[in-house]
Amino acid sequence: MMRLPLDLASLLRHAAREHGDQEVITVDASGQGHRSNWATLERRARTWAQAWQRLGLPAGSTVAVLGWHAQGLLEAVLGTAACGLKALTLNPRQFPEQLIHAVNRCQAQALVVDPMMLPLVEAMQLQMPSVAHYLQFGGPEALPQRSELQTLMDSASLLGFDDPDWRWPPVDEHQPALLSFTATSSGWPRGVPTSHRAAMLQAMAAALPDAYALSRGDTVMPLLPISHSGGWALCLCAALVGARLVLVPPGLPATKLAQCMAQEGVTMAAGPPNIWQALLDALDAGAPWPMHMERAAVGAAAFPPLLLERLRQWPGLKLLHTWGMNEVAPPALVAHDAMLRAGLDGRLPQGRAVFGVEVALADDALRSLPRDGSTEGQLLVRGPWVLDAYVGEAKSPLVRLDGRKDEAGWLPTGDIARISPAGVVTITDRRKDLIRCGGEWISAQQLEAIALLHPAVLEAAVIARHDAELGERPLLIVVLRPGVEAPDADTLLALYTDRVPDWQRPTGALPVPELPRLHTGEVDKRDLRALIEALLD
Ligand code: AMP
Repeated sequence: MMRLPLDLASLLRHAAREHGDQEVITVDASGQGHRSNWATLERRARTWAQAWQRLGLPAGSTVAVLGWHAQGLLEAVLGTAACGLKALTLNPRQFPEQLIHAVNRCQAQALVVDPMMLPLVEAMQLQMPSVAHYLQFGGPEALPQRSELQTLMDSASLLGFDDPDWRWPPVDEHQPALLSFTATSSGWPRGVPTSHRAAMLQAMAAALPDAYALSRGDTVMPLLPISHSGGWALCLCAALVGARLVLVPPGLPATKLAQCMAQEGVTMAAGPPNIWQALLDALDAGAPWPMHMERAAVGAAAFPPLLLERLRQWPGLKLLHTWGMNEVAPPALVAHDAMLRAGLDGRLPQGRAVFGVEVALADDALRSLPRDGSTEGQLLVRGPWVLDAYVGEAKSPLVRLDGRKDEAGWLPTGDIARISPAGVVTITDRRKDLIRCGGEWISAQQLEAIALLHPAVLEAAVIARHDAELGERPLLIVVLRPGVEAPDADTLLALYTDRVPDWQRPTGALPVPELPRLHTGEVDKRDLRALIEALLD
């Protein structure tokens, strides 16, 4: 067989050649759609690649991209990655220190930014010495009169024209193409490199009938940002099958979202439960009905049974529950309508592994546990598009199951699950100390560190509590120092003002005499959650 690489340039060429006329639509904040197509997207991606060559970026360098969901962003990301550079998709929701950490960890040499986020980048620049080139999306008219960034250029001037004789350079399919930073318990995100081959295989598996079941006949709307694997993976999948793609900005009001879905004839959308909930509320309130919708994928957080009930009222809509991580792009597990029955604990299953993802359950000593539908253990995964090393970390995150040295290892997902004899996985809890709020993460440790700034707080623990709208919200539990005046909840919560965005603030603060602990000395958050639930019920 020919040894042609599975790379992103071949995907772009395919989309342009076979499905060039299929539309790629970017919806702006007012709900207006800007129309382009896969042929134009590939041409503009080529101009990014040529621009990096003119600027002299050596093969393998990293370009960071900071912006919202839009075609311009996708062109920059894919053009950069497809020509053999690495595209770092920064998450605009992360703190400036976290963005700086990501840029420095990857030693990014260029940074492309949305005009709205330019002031943020200006404030960060002194701490990002590796960045030699700053670019702002758009034309020269959008550049500020004066900027702190000496090398700032507008992207339209840099991109110039597409040389018809220019060819995508050959790349090694195992080379990292896309970099994203994922939340960790410690608050410092870790870099996940995705190779060309991994991105391509994942996109092929995601399109299969028992996964997203995508075809050229579809109009696809990702409801997760491109900075997350769930966002870019669906875009790649759309390019692969030649589907129409509709990109909406995060935070678009649900009424406008419904309107766009209806107007653009969206047939498949994938996003976190809170967005689906908001959409259903808007439809109940009279928003236009997206009558072309055929499939709704709910993922990024557990599918609440109440949402399932509501979505089941939608005539003809097929439902999917999907699970994935930045480290193993979604959908790695998929549960279809027929599988979506809540267990005795009220949880809906996340489903069966798609080809290329293998799952196993293990106890704390990494001995395998049975697939009997009731034993719970940590969920491990492996496969050709599962991460094996974080960016810049020498220590491998992989573990050996049952002490087997003849295997490459497994990635611990940080999730606790049970697996039925038929292979259906249900996530029951999480080992990682993070709170899933909407589609985003909140680090419990970071909120605890802020609570400890108050002199009366001896110990702090932040736990997740169920929230009907956002899935989970943080609750602060404190042990107060004896003998000092006890602060009230409002005083403790005021500590978070200007330190974290509003959506990350704890919803309440509760004093307890002591925190339950594991034998290691760590706070036993499972126990604490159970105690607090019993207390507040
Ligand atoms: P991220 O890397 O940000 O995508 O986070 C991945 C994590 O999100 C998983 O390890 C789970 O903890 C959580 N997650 C994703 N999808 C689901 C789901 N369908 N049900 C429950 N948790 C999920």
